[in-house]
Amino acid sequence: MTARQSTQTLIKPSDAAAWIACIRRAWLDKHQSTTVYEPDAFNQLLSDLGLAHEAAMLARLEGQYPVIQAISFDHTQVLMQQGAPVIYQGRLVDEQQGLVGYPDFLIRHESGEYQSADAKLSLSENKKTIQIQLGIYRRLLRNELPAMVFLGDGRTGLLGNEVNPVVDEFITGMRALLDLPQQPAVRYSHSKCRICPYDAHCRPDFEAKEDISLLYGIHGKAAEHLAEAGISTISQLAMSTVESIPDVPYLKGNKRKHRAILQAGSFLSGKVFQLNKAALPEGTWIHFDIEDNPLTPDRERHVYLWGFLVPAYTRENFDYVWTDDETGDYDGWLGFLQKIEEYRSNYSPLVLAHYSNHEKATIRQYAERYAMKNHPTVTWLLGDDSPLFDMQNPVLDCLVLPLQGYGLKDICKHPDLVNFQWENEESGSQWSVVQFNRFRLETDLAEKQKLKTEILRYNRDDVIATRRLEVWIRKLFL
Ligand code: SF4
Repeated sequence: MTARQSTQTLIKPSDAAAWIACIRRAWLDKHQSTTVYEPDAFNQLLSDLGLAHEAAMLARLEGQYPVIQAISFDHTQVLMQQGAPVIYQGRLVDEQQGLVGYPDFLIRHESGEYQSADAKLSLSENKKTIQIQLGIYRRLLRNELPAMVFLGDGRTGLLGNEVNPVVDEFITGMRALLDLPQQPAVRYSHSKCRICPYDAHCRPDFEAKEDISLLYGIHGKAAEHLAEAGISTISQLAMSTVESIPDVPYLKGNKRKHRAILQAGSFLSGKVFQLNKAALPEGTWIHFDIEDNPLTPDRERHVYLWGFLVPAYTRENFDYVWTDDETGDYDGWLGFLQKIEEYRSNYSPLVLAHYSNHEKATIRQYAERYAMKNHPTVTWLLGDDSPLFDMQNPVLDCLVLPLQGYGLKDICKHPDLVNFQWENEESGSQWSVVQFNRFRLETDLAEKQKLKTEILRYNRDDVIATRRLEVWIRKLFL
């Protein structure tokens, strides 16, 4: 069998990620995969860490057993017939089932049957994808042994018959897609499409049709039901009234419908609509933003930077707590709490402004991690009189903006809205994680310092952005 045949006509475990994200993406991969997927720096980092983990698992197994690398489908079969203890990068195919798979390891069980094992950094991310991938290996091996997952934290996960329903669903769905002569009709999803390699292929059609799912807050399912009710385009929605829109899934109630109509109008005209007067808390504002690394050995997020912008809100008023790696996690947390106490005594009342719920959720996680829920600073931060103020709330409660996403950068970078530009155009939270992981590995001190300076500059711009957003809201919407 040629690689071309396997890619085009057989179902691979690696098809699962695309299928879960979007069935059209899975169809395009199978029928016209001319798009070359170039991973961005963050995904490249994930891939490098995954490969390093696989290499570490290989070294560990090589210390215990003879490990033989398979070089073809036939070679894999020969090695299995010979009873090789561990086969590395085995190749399995079952043309009858239409399946092909490449498990990292095939390990001979005491029963003489083979058990597949993959090295994965974590089970919590992409759980369904991993379940399908490992479930496919079990189908290819045609035995009842659970598949193994060698996790980044040293544990081994086992996946058995409980994953069969999702594997069945995947195989049935993929077979239907393989037989489909034309790409399936789907709706736009901002979170998925903007990072999809087929965005340029799909977007013009969504835009030409004025597909309602292009609008912020309109779920694809709502768009489908609205189309059935005769509202198929953004223009039609913009001209609708609350009374003329039926209750449909994800779009029920007058408030949401009113917002949807304005969102359609804003999309077409570029206008900002104000729903209510914004209410901002009184006090001395300090802007706050964290940078955290999810790619730690134990997969517990490590906050490497707790950043603040204090009065008088110039670039020189950036303040922060930094830790070089996860071994300083606890000290960084204590440094953060100490900084909060300093601000609390210097500025009263204090408003600690951040954008989205991430900062508050992280403080909660840290309080649990270090059993400090009753620490006086923590109870103040998370209690009824909390100084924390999520800037996203007044935005979502009061404004309808000509945007497809309401993230801080969406709003601040827009030239007709806040119009604040980050010094480093490429920067973002994933960019920061990549830079931080480079920082951790860098041995040249000058280069290390340069990386740290870049990360600090990015975080400083984040907190300056929330300050600019505050000023913009105060000027126009109070
Ligand atoms: S751009 Fe969107 S609709 Fe098109 S394949 Fe990708 S995720 Fe699916």
